[in-house]
Amino acid sequence: MIKTNFHTHTTFCDGKNTAEEMVIAAIDKGFTHLGFSAHSYTEYDESCGLPLSKMEDYKKEIYRLKEKYKDKIKIYYGIEFDYYSKIDTSEFEYVIASVHGIEKNGKIYIVDESRESLIKNVNEAWGGDYMAFAEDYFETVSKQKGDIIGHIDLLTKFNENDIIFSTKDSRYLNAAKKAVNKLAQSGAIFEINTGAIQRGYRTTPYPSEDILKMIKKSGSKIIINSDCHNTQGIDCDFEKAYEYALKCGFEKSDIIGGNF
Ligand SMILES: [Zn+2]
Ligand SMILES: [Zn+2]
Repeated sequence: MIKTNFHTHTTFCDGKNTAEEMVIAAIDKGFTHLGFSAHSYTEYDESCGLPLSKMEDYKKEIYRLKEKYKDKIKIYYGIEFDYYSKIDTSEFEYVIASVHGIEKNGKIYIVDESRESLIKNVNEAWGGDYMAFAEDYFETVSKQKGDIIGHIDLLTKFNENDIIFSTKDSRYLNAAKKAVNKLAQSGAIFEINTGAIQRGYRTTPYPSEDILKMIKKSGSKIIINSDCHNTQGIDCDFEKAYEYALKCGFEKSDIIGGNF
């Protein structure tokens, strides 16, 4: 059995625990692989990202931990690269490509801040048209480059049970499908992300069943990640995520990592 997580935040960005605390917790839980993925620095939201002045320290610390714990766990030096980030990602061992904001009329609107800010932003920039918002969101998503596509439908963070907008609307589904198919051509792996469950925003992982089925149809592989921001969240709902993947048509050989 292997137990892995490649989406891990620490005090280097907006996580609550240090990288070493995360490693110790992962070893305690029987993990064989742990990938660190600090948020890349962005100008539009300086509160979450790894400050440019800390990039070297981040690298040194992850490589120190790699060496120190090499007999117990395999550690990877990665980054969660925001679409609007300008940092050079060439030195990382892997890149999670994520969209957390969308540009409209020269301004970047954050999509995962709060329910209130989402509604305010869609009213301000899209005149309250959630399908136009979704189309712009998925178009931005489709342009990403990375080894792993992070939380592809993050725009639904505050929309469980379609409480704000419909994810069954054909405009929504077509926009999502276009993004999935374009990203599939790049060979990227799509993520099942349980992070919003651990943080109490949702009871189900990203992406939705509809999108997961599109990913399966595109022939792509998936990876189960917790997007954890503390030690308790490292393996949040991994068994549930695995069952969910099987329910959406994936076979064991389509699933990389997780807990099996
Ligand atoms: Zn993210
Ligand atoms: Zn993340």
